[in-house]
Amino acid sequence: MTVGVDLGGTKIQTVALRGMKVVGSARVPTPQSGVAENVIQAIAGTIHVALRQAGTDAAALSGVGIGSPGEIDAAEGVVRQAGNVPGFSGSIKLGPLLARALGGGVKVKLENDVRVGVLGEHRAGAGRPYKNMLGVWLGTGVGGGLILDGELHDGRGAAGEIGHVVVKPGGRRCGCGRRGCLEAYAGRARMERRAHKLVRRGQKTVLFEIMRKQGKPRVTSGVYTRALKQGDELTKQLLADAAWALSIALSSAQNLLDLEAIVVGGGLGEELGQPFIDRVVKQMAPHLFADDHPPVVLPTELGDLSGAVGAALLADEA
Ligand SMILES: [Zn+2]
Repeated sequence: MTVGVDLGGTKIQTVALRGMKVVGSARVPTPQSGVAENVIQAIAGTIHVALRQAGTDAAALSGVGIGSPGEIDAAEGVVRQAGNVPGFSGSIKLGPLLARALGGGVKVKLENDVRVGVLGEHRAGAGRPYKNMLGVWLGTGVGGGLILDGELHDGRGAAGEIGHVVVKPGGRRCGCGRRGCLEAYAGRARMERRAHKLVRRGQKTVLFEIMRKQGKPRVTSGVYTRALKQGDELTKQLLADAAWALSIALSSAQNLLDLEAIVVGGGLGEELGQPFIDRVVKQMAPHLFADDHPPVVLPTELGDLSGAVGAALLADEA
């Protein structure tokens, strides 16, 4: 029995996994107190609930995997600069602290949140039939994970960062501080900044009105799709830019790696779904060198459980 935890800024999703099967799960909002210890206690709480659902307890636990934002030092079990998680902006010894909260003796393995999601989809979701695949996660930013010959490819720790592939030299400013990255066009936070800029230039949009009506502090994925349904021109433009940028980055990755599959996930990816994927695929086609065997481009199968399932598998494989 292994447990996987998907740690995010707004929610903690945990699953208990027996073999490839989810036998327990728990989800709680991430404590917003700004104290890391509260977050760690909340994680431990979800683990106990998931194990209880599975009809067992911590004594049966062979390992815990965690997908976390921020920089991961897997060897030390340390997370750094996961600023989205309240209390996690510095350096947190998440692995050892969680092991202690669980009573000690449990191995805790850490990995980047997007990469565990991609691993989950590869082992137990849409990527199962393929040996070589890329996962591209559209969320607040754009993350990625690369599976080569059936294994998660880390490089020297930073492989798969498709979000920072350059789609336009000198283009829009990215969250990483550089210019022209894919994330600057297809990441939710940068799209929101772009929307503000266009409004300042005099364009009209219902985006911010919908956001306020829904009581959201940000333009969430759901706000974009609602605006799109209302025929909002500015939203159409943002999504056209995102599809274009993705087609450039993904076709370039394809020409380099000859992948069998590309899986599109993340909050925004899930929300936009197949129609958006079809649009990206169409725009990729003219750029594909080996155009007689394009990759299949798919939505995720596990949806918002892919991170937690992948984290559990990571613990299992470790
Ligand atoms: Zn960047």
